[in-house]
Amino acid sequence: MKTVHHWIGGQAVDGASGSFGPVTDPATGEVTTQVALASADEVDAAVATARAAYASWGTSSLAQRTTVLFKFRALLDQHREEIARLITAEHGKVHDDALGEVARGLEIVDLACGITVQLKGELSTQVASRVDVASIRQPLGVVAGITPFNFPAMVPMWMFPLAVACGNTFVLKPSEKDPSAALRLAELFSEAGLPDGVLNVVNGDKVAVDRLLEHPDVAAVSFVGSTPIARHIHATASAHGKRVQALGGAKNHMLVLPDADLDAAADAAVSAAYGSAGERCMAVSAVVAVGAIGDELVAKIKERAEKITIGPGHDPASEMGPLITAAHRDKVAGYVAGAAAQGADVVLDGTGFTVEGYENGHWIGLSLLDKVSTDSDAYRDEIFGPVLCVLRAETYEEGLALINASPYGNGTAVFTRDGGAARRFQLEVEAGMVGVNVPIPVPVGYHSFGGWKDSLFGDHHIYGNDGTHFYTRGKVVTTRWPDPADAPTGVDLGFPR
Ligand code: NAD
Repeated sequence: MKTVHHWIGGQAVDGASGSFGPVTDPATGEVTTQVALASADEVDAAVATARAAYASWGTSSLAQRTTVLFKFRALLDQHREEIARLITAEHGKVHDDALGEVARGLEIVDLACGITVQLKGELSTQVASRVDVASIRQPLGVVAGITPFNFPAMVPMWMFPLAVACGNTFVLKPSEKDPSAALRLAELFSEAGLPDGVLNVVNGDKVAVDRLLEHPDVAAVSFVGSTPIARHIHATASAHGKRVQALGGAKNHMLVLPDADLDAAADAAVSAAYGSAGERCMAVSAVVAVGAIGDELVAKIKERAEKITIGPGHDPASEMGPLITAAHRDKVAGYVAGAAAQGADVVLDGTGFTVEGYENGHWIGLSLLDKVSTDSDAYRDEIFGPVLCVLRAETYEEGLALINASPYGNGTAVFTRDGGAARRFQLEVEAGMVGVNVPIPVPVGYHSFGGWKDSLFGDHHIYGNDGTHFYTRGKVVTTRWPDPADAPTGVDLGFPR
């Protein structure tokens, strides 16, 4: 069995705690790998290494940083296939989707390659006689990143390339369910010339995370994961004086207005609800059909969903893979099993599904629930599986109110041909990312990603300009170089008027 250890100081370091976690191939149900779970002492060692590396990386030239980043970008590009295969083997998503994940992560490396422009700062000359004011941004020190299972390469790349480009050193704690891709990224960054200790990977669970949250030498924490853990991360790390951005879970709504192109809306709903088996924080999990279109829209979604091919991620014929664990599959199935008793019409029931030759895989088919009530468990909880809820609303206002009553506010979308209605929706909906006829509005790398309400704790979104802001702190320098001809100013105890 393969063992995944840590990456500290530019080399693989064996786990010393004696504690390991299982990593499973979701398509077969077999434990293929064990991952070392770090003790608090091992976390301390990684933070100490990162702190020592900060002494020189924090003052490295921008040219030195971007030289390494451009080489890393080239290596990532060469290794797309390999990283995608690592993702599929431990996460289960289909190869094409894994390649998409690598591409979206690479986008943030692109952004980091352009850090010279983002860190240019601002200068105002002659704000008063011979007085200039400069605003500059400086790195924080050691930054920690804690990432979820569902994007084992992309989400780490939302964090460390930009943090490191800004001059910080980094300790990454990937998901213990699929740790191999992140470790490979660290190896490639090292191969690109990143000095030892600038990026460290510590594998582990709550023990490792909690130590990072309390460690006095960690200046900031970036977290992406579920809402209850995001809340814990934000509260604990803030209480320990750290800057925190903690992105949480979601229930993303797609509002379909009566004038929408229903075929396009059904295509979008199926792609966004069932892609990656619904294990995406931007998955559409609730469609709100406005007016009389509900029955027709549900029929179109059903017709498309029935055609999706489910199978192992490495098979090019598969469009949807298995879920991450058997326990998660059973939890998802429980929502479908309980839906009818809570008033929903079960249009498609994906429970009990299996794939021939892969009977021990974590399979579940596509489920479609119609006329779902806002009080039901299937609507209220983030299911994080291939289950789409359809709700009905009489009017735009009713649909909007329903969406805005959700405690989550990650992404949302409106499908319509009416520009005025779409504009109203953009301004009135309470969510951080809005799509107009775009079902999964994940912002491009140079705009920032983040939700509202229980989908994000902290005030900085991730990557884009917010990313650079999060990983740096501002300083304003006011300078006066007196002219020898100036008369002495003398003492003045007042404020300048
Ligand atoms: P998770 O919250 O269970 O785990 C995320 C990380 O936190 C992992 O590294 C894990 O080891 C650690 N962790 C888990 N329990 C902990 C605890 N009690 N104390 C300290 N650390 C703990 O999330 P997951 O199941 O890996 O990922 C799926 C979730 O992530 C979904 O809710 C999804 O919506 C969310 N997500 C959000 C975004 C976003 O951008 N908002 C993106 C991707 C995923």
